[in-house]
Amino acid sequence: MILPKTNRLTSEQLAEITAIVGEFGCKIQPIVGAVRTIYAIVGDEREELMINRLEGLAFVDRIDRIQSPFKLMDKRSDLATHRIKAGGVTLGQELFVIAGACTIDPKNPNYFHETAAAVKEAGAHVLRGGVWKPRTNPYTFQGDVKSLDILMEASRRTGLPVDTEVMEDAHIKLALDAGVHSLQIGARNALNYSLLRAVGRAIAERDTVVLLKRSIHMGPLNEFISAAEYIAAFGNPNVILCPRGTTPTLDGYRNHPDESITPLLKEKTWAPVVVDPSHSVGKAVYVPACALAAVAYGADGLCIESHVSPSQGIGDDPKQAVTPDVLAETIRQAKQLWTLRRSGKAS
Ligand code: PEP
Ligand code: MN
Repeated sequence: MILPKTNRLTSEQLAEITAIVGEFGCKIQPIVGAVRTIYAIVGDEREELMINRLEGLAFVDRIDRIQSPFKLMDKRSDLATHRIKAGGVTLGQELFVIAGACTIDPKNPNYFHETAAAVKEAGAHVLRGGVWKPRTNPYTFQGDVKSLDILMEASRRTGLPVDTEVMEDAHIKLALDAGVHSLQIGARNALNYSLLRAVGRAIAERDTVVLLKRSIHMGPLNEFISAAEYIAAFGNPNVILCPRGTTPTLDGYRNHPDESITPLLKEKTWAPVVVDPSHSVGKAVYVPACALAAVAYGADGLCIESHVSPSQGIGDDPKQAVTPDVLAETIRQAKQLWTLRRSGKAS
């Protein structure tokens, strides 16, 4: 990692370091932070002669060789001061909320439009809506590209930025071309390194945000943070970690709630944590408590499935979407808890 003396290198300086690392078979990837840009050396960074030559340049402050599997997302990284913004919120400065339907029903777009207006009213900053869905059963509804138009129309009507899951290159392109602001990598794909790379490449140097769910197959937390690193390594560090429940061990909840990992993640990474209580517990009635627990554990935000008429919804909505009134009350309480936590009256 090359740290220049100035906030960013001039094109001549960039050309100079690119030429030096090129001699050693490496490339330079600029990582654009809010204030400063740092320059990752992609390749084998241990070549002493290359490092010495870079360190000898007048405009280079230092070469950072953080011994961490996630050099960019590590709490000790120079990007640790980077702040992610979405839906008018700087994450970490106020409670951030993504809400909306699990799955947009292309046959009944009005449900989504009504839901979009209602979640905005309830206090959501970003509207979620599934266009393409990873379904366990191949015979169930797999999503429909027509829903992308519905999602973007809802974005225009409400003024909210939107989040949707992408599972392959074609989805990434369609979503970005349409103007989707937050790309979701789902629990099933969080270990799909080709997809992580493809998303990283596609959003390099854009202000797009990625909501990276935790895979139920992830063990040590380093695996989760390294998945975020894959995306950041291509030039966009706007990656939000989203615990959403892990392998079920209880017979009541859909997954095993994992909001308690937030303090552990925060010891290792500066990445914001936005917890998804909906997939964790999998039943609407348990969602508010899980959401509050997540905030108590230090989450920067929540991602909650909500629908104006859950029984008429599709995908997960009939079982786990909360109605907008429950969402509004949950957000109200979560904000109080957030303030209490930040004021130091609760730890
Ligand atoms: C979703 O957000 O609707 C979803 C499928 O989530 P996950 O990947 O966490 O299962
Ligand atoms: Mn869902």
